[in-house]
Amino acid sequence: MKIICIGRNYARHAKELNNPLPEKPVVFMKPSTALLVNGKPFFLPDFSEEIHHELEVVIKICRNGRHIEPQYAHKYFREISLGIDFTARDLQAECKKKGHPWEIAKAFDDSAPLGRFFPVEDFALPSLPFVLYKNEQPVQQGNTADMLFSFSEIISYVSRYFRLLQGDLIYTGTPEGVGPVQRGDVLKGVFYTREGLAREAFKFKVL
Ligand code: ZN
Repeated sequence: MKIICIGRNYARHAKELNNPLPEKPVVFMKPSTALLVNGKPFFLPDFSEEIHHELEVVIKICRNGRHIEPQYAHKYFREISLGIDFTARDLQAECKKKGHPWEIAKAFDDSAPLGRFFPVEDFALPSLPFVLYKNEQPVQQGNTADMLFSFSEIISYVSRYFRLLQGDLIYTGTPEGVGPVQRGDVLKGVFYTREGLAREAFKFKVL
């Protein structure tokens, strides 16, 4: 299983980090050891002073494929969830400055908390509102309608380089509002069905 992540997929988030808008999806990966599931707590690592939350919609690949055309991409996922792309922003800034790869800032253990999956039919895609609550206060709000690259475009693009296998996960980028987490914070990810009902995908504690 592999975890594919898309960076800078929301214009206002790219702006808040002073990054240019990408012409093609920005792609990186996390190993399976980055996954954190079942509401288990996230332990702050000792190598960073600045761990940021990035709330993202996650799609689960349901069949194998490569060189997938955008018009067929919707057949490759049936369930979606929310997850967090935890980022050691201080390490990432150093990596970016030196032009180094940023795995140590993005792909460390437990850096990919993942929620429960829901059938894609539950949602009014392409418009899907989602919210991250930190200690019951909304800190990140997004809508997949604002993505620069749609789910289909992402699947088509990444499958030109990486054969997609059943069970692979794609973190589809974060909207604006990224920020630091501290010991004791409780993070909760909620998205809204086509009827406007709130669905809690995950809730866990930062320790
Ligand atoms: Zn991200």
